[in-house]
Amino acid sequence: MRLRRLWIRHRNKFFIAVLVVLFIVVIAPSKSISNILKLEEKGVIYVDGERKKDYHDYEYMKLEALQKGPGEGGASATLPPELEKEKDEIYKVNGFNGRLSDDIALNRSLKDIRHPKCKELLYLADLPNAAVVVPFHNEHWSTLLRTAFSAYNRSPRHLLKEIILVDDASTKDFLGAKLDNFLAEHLPIARVVRLPERWGLIRARLEGAKHATADVLIFLDSHTECTTNWLPPLLDPIARNYKTAVCPFIDVIDFENFEYRAQDEGRRGAFDWEFYYKRLPVLPEDEANMPQPFKSPVMAGGLFAISSKFFWELGGYDPGLDIWGGEQYELSFKVWQCHGVMYDAPCSRIGHIYRKFAPFPNPRTDNFLARNYRRVAEVWMDEYKKYLYMRQPGWLETDTGDLSEQLAVRERNKCKPFKWFMENVAFDLAKSYPLIEPPDYCNGTIQSLADPKLCVDSKFKGQFDRLDSLGECSQSSQFQFQLSAFKDIRPLKSHNCWDVPDLKDKHAPVLLFGCHKGLGNQMWKYDMMNKMILFGHPPSHCLDSSVTTREVFVTTCDMNSPTQKWNWSFVNAERLRNYDTLDPKP
Ligand code: UDP
Ligand code: MN
Repeated sequence: MRLRRLWIRHRNKFFIAVLVVLFIVVIAPSKSISNILKLEEKGVIYVDGERKKDYHDYEYMKLEALQKGPGEGGASATLPPELEKEKDEIYKVNGFNGRLSDDIALNRSLKDIRHPKCKELLYLADLPNAAVVVPFHNEHWSTLLRTAFSAYNRSPRHLLKEIILVDDASTKDFLGAKLDNFLAEHLPIARVVRLPERWGLIRARLEGAKHATADVLIFLDSHTECTTNWLPPLLDPIARNYKTAVCPFIDVIDFENFEYRAQDEGRRGAFDWEFYYKRLPVLPEDEANMPQPFKSPVMAGGLFAISSKFFWELGGYDPGLDIWGGEQYELSFKVWQCHGVMYDAPCSRIGHIYRKFAPFPNPRTDNFLARNYRRVAEVWMDEYKKYLYMRQPGWLETDTGDLSEQLAVRERNKCKPFKWFMENVAFDLAKSYPLIEPPDYCNGTIQSLADPKLCVDSKFKGQFDRLDSLGECSQSSQFQFQLSAFKDIRPLKSHNCWDVPDLKDKHAPVLLFGCHKGLGNQMWKYDMMNKMILFGHPPSHCLDSSVTTREVFVTTCDMNSPTQKWNWSFVNAERLRNYDTLDPKP
């Protein structure tokens, strides 16, 4: 009886308790309710069972928006004319307008050019902390400091543990004690590690990484600017899988006026078979998923994050790589082949000053670049290395030095063959950069017989530009073309082709369109005997010109017209004779 009375008196409480337990165990973790639940730490919310956070520093963003002065908001700036002489001197040693940089605040504001959805993205509430490592050789004062301040000011305090500037034997006075003292006073999170002699940027990065104690290493160039909320998008993928490298989008800081602008909205990194860095389009599924991180085969090199644990499991960089060059391939191949993954993170944007010219003399007398490339090729590229040597047989004459430690890294990590990388990661690379370059039918300059001092001039700007002129012949690149194995004509090594979309006009213009390797509007043929360049599939019209207006166009063929006669500087007669039987899709 007593029990029954107790039950009647307390059953309401019991039901409430059951409801509370039910809510906590069953309903709260489910999506809809957890989104609005704010538990424990301020700002942390549950999304799909993950603890996440909005890392934007709204206070700082508000203050920044009020800043006024030259270059604020990432706007372009100018110097008064009386500073011209001073400007030139500083320009010469940097390859960019360092004097203007000195007039721009070290903490200048930048406009937010991220994908609009980046403003709303949340990242894991528990992220690893990071060390920023910046190698520099004779960097300019204000650009170096702006790199450090922009990284610091726009990072959550607890996530940026240290900034390590690695001085690669700079000779500028102010980069010595003055820099140390300035940092000690104004930015104590940063310190300088000094190398005893010029080691080059690869070993400088390695040395910086050795001094770092944080979970994640972030490498930056010494003339960069980190933008709003740049750090969490780099750390989040690494928090989920430590065998991950993440690259930010790299924007352009104008070398002349310091304007901050987008380079583009993303490409996947790649290379051609002479080891020039190239880019491939993002995949349709990545495009649909923007601005989520997408996989990229090769990093650009200067700016990226990687977990310290993974970096050292991979043996860091090969310390046998001298000065610069090839290290971006080495690390990218290693990451992928040794069971890691590499992403580009669209919501992390960092600006970089692409120099107008290289201001430093070559510090070595040997061909260090060829040796670097060979070391990478020999250790990581298996049978694919031959496609490099085919084009650069000279590299084979360079001694690689001892590779045993690098081969041991590959063995120890049980890394996959390069073929796996080519088939699974860079699967579309060979479509744009064929392993074996089929020989051209013709290449070099296209000289007019009507006026032999004139040649076809691409004035190459890019896709959709009209190719409309003759110019004074020279060996410069705008006069170099190829009638390629695909039976198209293109500015040398370009991916845009001569295209005649419309033959209605008597003088049909020749345009430049992306090469589609599909004949049609892009099919050309050279008639060696009559020195005519024929257009069409089948050939129906001819390339013609006016030496007075210097126009180039396509019109009906006239065997007797000198303005339709052209000399290529190189003609592969054997291939041209077989033109009609050769497959345009080699
Ligand atoms: N750097 C270095 N030692 C060198 C060459 C370059 O420490 O021997 C640094 C340089 O100061 C910069 C980074 O490495 O921070 C990349 O070099 P740079 O900016 O000249 O290359 P770019 O971006 O022009 O390709
Ligand atoms: Mn640089």
